[in-house]
Amino acid sequence: MKYPALRNHVGGSPVDGELPLLDVYDPSHGTVISRVPLSAAREVDAAVRSAQAAFPAWSALPIKERVQVFFRYKALLERHIDELAALVTEENGKIASEARAEILKAAELCEFACSLPQIATGELLEVSRGVECRVERFPLGVVASITPFNFPNMVPNWTIPNAIALGNCMILKPSELVPLSANRIAELLLEAGLPPGVLQVVHGGRDAVEAICDHPDISAVSFVGSTKVAKIVYRRATSQLKRCLALGGAKNHLIVMPDADREMAATNIVASMSGCAGQRCMAASVMVAVQQADPVIARMAEVARAMVPGRDVGPVISDAALERITRYIDEAEAAGAEVIVDGRGVKVPGKEGGYFIGPTIVDHVTPDMKIAQEEVFGPVLAIVRAKSLDEALAVENASPYGNAASVYTESGAVARRVMERANAGMVGVNVGVPVPREPFSFGGWNESRFGVGDITGKGSIEFWTQAKKLTTKWNREAGVNWMS
Ligand code: NAD
Repeated sequence: MKYPALRNHVGGSPVDGELPLLDVYDPSHGTVISRVPLSAAREVDAAVRSAQAAFPAWSALPIKERVQVFFRYKALLERHIDELAALVTEENGKIASEARAEILKAAELCEFACSLPQIATGELLEVSRGVECRVERFPLGVVASITPFNFPNMVPNWTIPNAIALGNCMILKPSELVPLSANRIAELLLEAGLPPGVLQVVHGGRDAVEAICDHPDISAVSFVGSTKVAKIVYRRATSQLKRCLALGGAKNHLIVMPDADREMAATNIVASMSGCAGQRCMAASVMVAVQQADPVIARMAEVARAMVPGRDVGPVISDAALERITRYIDEAEAAGAEVIVDGRGVKVPGKEGGYFIGPTIVDHVTPDMKIAQEEVFGPVLAIVRAKSLDEALAVENASPYGNAASVYTESGAVARRVMERANAGMVGVNVGVPVPREPFSFGGWNESRFGVGDITGKGSIEFWTQAKKLTTKWNREAGVNWMS
């Protein structure tokens, strides 16, 4: 095993414990590289107590002092980018350029946290003569962040910088499939000057998550993962009267109009469906081709066929994921769809044990097929044919998800119609992965997000703080009125 068994990180140091261990795999080779402890209520409670102890001093610091940690942490992310990206590649499988992009995005998230003193300034108004109302934002206390496997470094950094810069202490529960990056994040934050106890890493799976939802001293829970688990977490955390923001899965539709720029649409859409091996909640999943799209599809097939698994496309996370993805393609084919680019059954020389599947494009899919309805979470694009923009929008609107949607067109009027009518929280025009960059917030609609607000950017300030409304009067001569 390349790495020794991991430990939870509590109070600024790794802690020993007699916990059951789960194997951690390198998906490029199918080999075990480490083991992760499976924590439960006792470990969560120890982490909460450590966070509670750190909270008074941390929350008492002015925000301008707290963000100094994130200036230094951002510089450390950049300085250690090679090592951090290599770790992401090892535990998640992402190719090197994607892993580097993930770390750079984490640094951009820190950049936003560093701007919070200029953004989260509160409000002030003289509301009647001599009477001032002001709003100040206060941290919630101990909060938790539960993260998925697909971005081992970036998604923890969606929540850590903002929540902590705003004065909270945090329990991070990373995915048990990719636990290595989380410990490294905790180490770098300590090096950046984060006081021990402000961030704890508690490893594990379902038991740890349930203990987080149930713990009476955790005020807020953010969750990123599948819709199935997002619903469980949202219901359980809110039943304990916590605030909860639970981001779920996705089924993103890209509408391609007949006037779309052929090269831009083809290259963007293939990059969107195959990037990170399709394991992105923002990945293109269904292309709705309006009227004549054959030239775009032919070019997409060319681009996708030229991609080499192992070089241009990493593996998916596990054997089980590979089987699930293959089953969606097999079933669509059996139901009459046409697999025009087939990535099934690939073997990568030197990585024969890896969980690889090449980019796969399935044409003439009908909206009732599973491949058109469910989240596949692999490098697979289903193409549904539509006669009109309205028909294409109806296909998009019928999805229970609502993370992202996009349209490829040269017409401003068509673009505007899609922006208005798409039933999704993030909509792109001629953009395959319409991720809003900071200071804009990230978050979907419908079954892609439960709770109010967004997880990054300005939208996250509301989630990680509570507003205190202060009303003051110092001038006696202002007299008495009914609001005095
Ligand atoms: P997952 O739901 O299986 O796991 C997410 C987290 O929940 C992990 O930390 C895991 O340990 C925990 N968990 C798993 N099963 C649980 C259970 N039964 N009870 C309590 N906790 C449980 O998700 P994943 O497979 O790690 O990640 C992929 C999913 O995440 C995809 O659906 C993807 O679309 C979604 N995702 C969404 C966004 C977004 O912003 N909407 C971003 C990234 C990933």
